[in-house]
Amino acid sequence: MKIAMIGTGYVGLVSGVCFSDFGHEVVCVDRDAEKIARLERGEVPIYEPGLDRLLEKNAAAGRLRFTGDLAAALDGVDAVFIAVGTPTRRGDGHADLSHVMAAAEEIARAAPDGVVIVTKSTVPVGTNRKVREVVAAANPALDFDVASNPEFLREGAAIDDFMRPDRVVVGVESERAAEVMAAIYRPLYLRDFPVVTTDLESAEMIKYAANAFLATKITFINEIAALCERAGADVKEVSKGMGLDKRIGPTFLHAGPGFGGSCFPKDTRALARIGQEHGLPLQITEAVIKINDEVKRRMVEKITELCGGSVNGLTVAVLGVTFKPETDDMREAPSLTIVPALVGGGARVRVADPQGRREGEALLPGVAWCDDAYAAAEGADLLVLLTEWNEFRALDLADIAGRMATPRLADLRNVYSAEAAQAAGFAAYTAVGREGVG
Ligand code: NAD
Repeated sequence: MKIAMIGTGYVGLVSGVCFSDFGHEVVCVDRDAEKIARLERGEVPIYEPGLDRLLEKNAAAGRLRFTGDLAAALDGVDAVFIAVGTPTRRGDGHADLSHVMAAAEEIARAAPDGVVIVTKSTVPVGTNRKVREVVAAANPALDFDVASNPEFLREGAAIDDFMRPDRVVVGVESERAAEVMAAIYRPLYLRDFPVVTTDLESAEMIKYAANAFLATKITFINEIAALCERAGADVKEVSKGMGLDKRIGPTFLHAGPGFGGSCFPKDTRALARIGQEHGLPLQITEAVIKINDEVKRRMVEKITELCGGSVNGLTVAVLGVTFKPETDDMREAPSLTIVPALVGGGARVRVADPQGRREGEALLPGVAWCDDAYAAAEGADLLVLLTEWNEFRALDLADIAGRMATPRLADLRNVYSAEAAQAAGFAAYTAVGREGVG
């Protein structure tokens, strides 16, 4: 199959590279000329483990190219994927579809007859039909089909998720589109990964419903964690006991500082908006959005309490600012709420993050960047573990405590324990949903 991929962000680039690894001929297009120039030099503009090697391999094999010229990229393609951003529209929570529709119009002008226009971006129910209308209006003579193919990969594990998905979801309304999509995903069919082929609206809804469900699961355990703190239970034990129930499962059941990232916040807002537009407010999703904001604020209170009610004049070392480990993505990370609150409270904030600095420097003004946790801890009054990168999971706590002016630890990912912190010399320790000291 010959494929064009519009958008070389976290989803478009991973999808394009993986499709080329399936053996398809792929051209990736982006309107960001600098990104394309870097990709043409073999540089990967994002941090995603393993992506550089896979890109190099398939580019060298001649199956993978990059260009800013959409018209040239569409020459002879069987399918063109739209993988552009769908952030929250300013003001109303709706998904901003301007990039999707702009891409659809551009495609309409240059696509060959018989093409399948596939939306990989996360889009509200009804968008694929709108894409079809936009394309038909821009080029009434074009013979084309549309398909919905939402993506479920996780940043940090994106290649494995793409190559070994729990399922692939395909929404189509014609036999021809179904055949092209089946040919594209044949390597996965052959290895028996489930492919859910359905209508356009159901495919679009599956993506939002899945993300809202996962966000709900995280928020549920965060709320239980708050209750555990009041009631004297340990949320880690509670999660374990709950997660062993096969109907519940252990994933997305870790209490922490609230969900962030490029998907859950915007997708829950968009789904809530879709519900309102259909006259059916989604009460659970709306509560999840509200509670998650409260969780992040509660973390600031927790940190402040650990310091006796104020962080003014204190030196605070923050470990991890990306929204999760193994990515450089800072979009809607809890750090973007928590770090400015600490700076605003008068703290001198130092930050260490293995990949967060490139994005984070502009987003977190007024902080000092350190090479690692040990450098950040030097002379600090408080250590905040915010994103559980592997290198922060096995810290020499005694060494860290020894470097600090006042050894206090706010462990917002429940990596350590009050006993371990105390034994290492920390005078005060707090975690999420479990007992602290000090
Ligand atoms: P991103 O912001 O990282 O990348 C989008 C890219 O599209 C940018 O490089 C931008 O320059 C390019 N672009 C925008 N308009 C264009 C146009 N008209 N022509 C060419 N290029 C254009 O976004 P992302 O994180 O990859 O997300 C893309 C979509 O996938 C979103 O709808 C998102 O919700 C969805 N999604 C993301 C993830 C994730 O983990 N990031 C997972 C599943 C689904």
